[in-house]
Amino acid sequence: MPRILDGAVIAAEIKQEVAAEVKQLAAQGVRPGLAAVLVGSVPASQIYVRSKVQTCEDLGIYSELITPPDTVTTEEMFELVAKLNDRDDIDGILIQLPLPAQVDAKALLDAISPAKDVDGFHPVNAGRLQAGRPALAPCTPAGIIEILKRSNLPIAGQHAVVVGRSDLVGKPAAMLLLHQNATVTICHTKTRDLGAMTRQADILVAAIGRPGFITPEMVKPGATIIDVGINRLNTRAEFDRFFAGNARREATFAKRGSTIVGDVDPKAFEMAGAYTPVPGGVGLLTVAMLMANTVHAAKMRRGL
Ligand code: NAP
Repeated sequence: MPRILDGAVIAAEIKQEVAAEVKQLAAQGVRPGLAAVLVGSVPASQIYVRSKVQTCEDLGIYSELITPPDTVTTEEMFELVAKLNDRDDIDGILIQLPLPAQVDAKALLDAISPAKDVDGFHPVNAGRLQAGRPALAPCTPAGIIEILKRSNLPIAGQHAVVVGRSDLVGKPAAMLLLHQNATVTICHTKTRDLGAMTRQADILVAAIGRPGFITPEMVKPGATIIDVGINRLNTRAEFDRFFAGNARREATFAKRGSTIVGDVDPKAFEMAGAYTPVPGGVGLLTVAMLMANTVHAAKMRRGL
């Protein structure tokens, strides 16, 4: 039986450590602070941001939720970011994506002070990460490393194959694995014979955005599979493709009218030595790592 890498357990462990660090900082008169900016009313974004703000509260981190209207202009957002950059009580600035079409998201993310870029999206932090200098690393890729390390799975010398090369997930995940001394292959839509690549993976990271894309034939028996994908299945046909006969999933689907699947076909997990489930895997690490980054930013800015 493959081992299930439980994101909830690992996330809880990290949050506990962050809470302890927040307490220590409080003794030195420092309270890390996060500003979460949520524009408009995308339901998924509201859920994500609320959970981030709530987690701050749980861990003793100061948080501020700022909600500009969805008519906000790029200039108004620049003003907001400039103010947050200047505030001493704010260590981390998070701008929830997606932003409305009229806002230049890239320019805006670049305007966040790299020292407060707790999402790790700023080009300065991407460059520092590549150069192996202390940096705020993107939360989801950082969470992948935590899962592997805290599960005592070897990284050094392993062949890690990352499918996906986005700036937010694939590229930084590959870079972090490389820094842990894995031999890394990055795959994308132009990769020839993808299966031949993925079958070489001791650690297979799927960050593709396509439901159940990695099939059992693409997996080396015993590999560790990290499934980053979050894909919602809304139709009966989509559901049956992956979960026909799965009573627990049936119940979710009946109740919510949808369920989620990762970028890995659940049948492929049976080939693995260990894997992160979806839901319940990598996704849960993302908020925990955001908290860790906020505390890290607070310390770095004060030279602690
Ligand atoms: P993205 O920006 O759309 O990037 C997808 C990557 O997959 C691209 O590099 C693309 O290659 C590659 N790809 C797509 N189809 C492919 C194919 N047929 N063969 C090989 N490569 C293919 O997505 P992302 O932001 O990285 O997110 C990836 C997944 O992770 C999504 O399901 C997303 O929902 C999920 N996600 C989860 C979390 C979390 O907290 N768990 C956080 C972020 C994202 P090209 O570059 O050649 O186009």
